[in-house]
Amino acid sequence: MRLSRSFLPTLKETPADAQIVSHRLMLRAGLVRQTASGIYAWLPAGLRVLRNISQIVREEQDSVGAQEVLMPTLQPAELWKRSGRYDAYGPEMLRIRDRHERDLLYGPTNEEMITDLFGQAVKSYRELPQTLYHIQWKFRDEVRPRFGVMRGREFLMKDAYSFDVDHAGAVASYQRMMLAYLRTFQRLGVKAIPMVADTGPIGGELSHEFIILAPTGESGVFYDGALDEQDWLHEPVDTDDHASLDTFFRRTTSFYAATDEKHDQAAWSDIAPDRQREGRGIEVGHIFHFGTKYTEAMGVSINGADGQSFFPEMGSYGIGVSRLVGAIIEASHDDAGIIWPEGVAPFDAVILNLKSGDLACDALCERLYREAPGRLLYDDRSDRAGAKFADADLMGHPWQFVVGPRGTAGGRVELKRRATGERSEMSVDDALAMIA
Ligand code: ATP
Ligand code: MG
Ligand code: MG
Ligand code: MG
Repeated sequence: MRLSRSFLPTLKETPADAQIVSHRLMLRAGLVRQTASGIYAWLPAGLRVLRNISQIVREEQDSVGAQEVLMPTLQPAELWKRSGRYDAYGPEMLRIRDRHERDLLYGPTNEEMITDLFGQAVKSYRELPQTLYHIQWKFRDEVRPRFGVMRGREFLMKDAYSFDVDHAGAVASYQRMMLAYLRTFQRLGVKAIPMVADTGPIGGELSHEFIILAPTGESGVFYDGALDEQDWLHEPVDTDDHASLDTFFRRTTSFYAATDEKHDQAAWSDIAPDRQREGRGIEVGHIFHFGTKYTEAMGVSINGADGQSFFPEMGSYGIGVSRLVGAIIEASHDDAGIIWPEGVAPFDAVILNLKSGDLACDALCERLYREAPGRLLYDDRSDRAGAKFADADLMGHPWQFVVGPRGTAGGRVELKRRATGERSEMSVDDALAMIA
């Protein structure tokens, strides 16, 4: 993408109403713009990030056998009356009436809808287990939308739902999902610690929140630093084998990790002081096992092996995709701007033409633009070099190719790595090889 022709409106000034660094940087880097309280438009760079995160989430869901669907944002009130949550959900639910006086709502979550869809289609225990998910906009009329996309009213969530014949199956589905979450967050370049959580209004018995450490987080967190050292992508788990899943789950949850709501001072003091990690954190995911709560309430039963009908056991599993954009920035930035982890960045590299209009500089930049791998942004504007450097650091591209009149004679460019600030001059071929 050529910057001179792109809609990437960066801001030099710090927006006055943004209280936390990720919100300020998202506005300054031109990722989003607010259109109403807690509601945002995603501009080209922001949308790329949202899509990159969604894609990683999708791949890890698929890899544990979850199947993608797409449910609508609008739901009939009728469904929620069947589960008993229509009145219980309260003012966070946006209620809508259509021209025929039918009550609808903008979905804050989808347990009711998926249970109904499942019940219409699945009749026999032989068709289980099943896990379905979608990545769809939700609406919650938060009392205090704040911190930009971190607590929006309209936000993008991945929500998955599992259906199993019995408790053991449901626990395996839960454990599988925990592994998928740990892998997802590792690929996103953030440390998200699974912490024992309250089951709250969804109800149920087993629940973990995934929390990214950041000083602006809303919960206090306490955990064993051993969790920071784990490599989930290479953890050998056979996700079809209950015993293997259980071993993984027991080991992972054996390390102390709790939010302030569930903190146990006695258990905490047993951990070696040099491993105690204490701070604040942002909830980016949440998994629940809640058994037959919805299938029973909504009368969704299927035929069992013994000829008797039974209520399938369920779990639900959320990831805050749009919140993650802010949370990743909270965890990865410096004074100059965003430092995107690879894989999430809107562009893998930017080409900075320090003298647009200079024949040699233009030619070298065009060559890089044609030959460099990945998603490239070419800063071909006629602005000062200083402004280009500042925008590149602000937008946080992992790599910067700096092309100036000094280097072009020898066919040399400077390559800068945003995360470390390391820069070195090299031939174009070496630079291309470096980021390949
Ligand atoms: P919170 O405690 O922050 O209000 P929640 O516990 O109500 O979140 P869940 O019902 O567990 O949220 O939803 C799953 C995920 O959706 C959360 O872990 C979070 O990442 C995301 N999420 C929830 N509310 C919002 C919101 N208002 N804006 C952005 N993301 C949200
Ligand atoms: Mg909430
Ligand atoms: Mg919560
Ligand atoms: Mg939650």
